[in-house]
Amino acid sequence: MSAPRQTILVVEDEASIAETITYALQTEGFIPVWKRTGRDALAILDTQPVALVVLDVGLPDQSGFDVCREMRKRHEVPVIFLTARSGEVDRIVGLELGADDYVAKPFSPRELTARVRAVLRRTSGNGGTKSPATPAGWTHDEGRCRITFHGQPLDLTRNEYRLLAALLATPGRVFSREQLMATAWEDPGAALDRTVDAHIKTVRAKLRLAAPDADPILTHRGLGYSLRDS
Ligand code: CA
Repeated sequence: MSAPRQTILVVEDEASIAETITYALQTEGFIPVWKRTGRDALAILDTQPVALVVLDVGLPDQSGFDVCREMRKRHEVPVIFLTARSGEVDRIVGLELGADDYVAKPFSPRELTARVRAVLRRTSGNGGTKSPATPAGWTHDEGRCRITFHGQPLDLTRNEYRLLAALLATPGRVFSREQLMATAWEDPGAALDRTVDAHIKTVRAKLRLAAPDADPILTHRGLGYSLRDS
């Protein structure tokens, strides 16, 4: 399982956070390159191969969103945002920026490196950051808010539908409970981690009715949930 060491570009102006991240990445066998500004980061991307970018939203020269937009014009490199405010999460979750994932501060180095690995696994070999196709067995009619599993239309509540739609939009992506709440609940502040767990449980029960042995929602201990991507 030993792969060539991949370069991860870390764009973060706070030295203490950058050091924590680069140390964790190094320990995991990556080659971290640290830049403090968007301009320096873009210069690196133009001159050397980078496997993934960890990009802080709050940078001194321009916002991480603008940096991401610039990157996207020239490169297909996957991006994980670091965010400090929940208002930023809304924009990322909308995925208008084509972000592959995000981590909210404060975060553990272990969570970040796990997400780096998950994004690299998901994006390698399919031409960068394109979302994988809907996996076999599923159909999703977004206009009518209908999801079917193995031919069976699922009878979902509003939150169950939004939660499953989020998982289905990027199969293989590991969502934390916070991310699922931000995506699926109109008032995420009112929900709790165990609310997500409870909804996952009811969704799983409904999926079992459609296909008893499929078990398509995976639990990732300490991280969250994903949809089986094959
Ligand atoms: Ca910052």
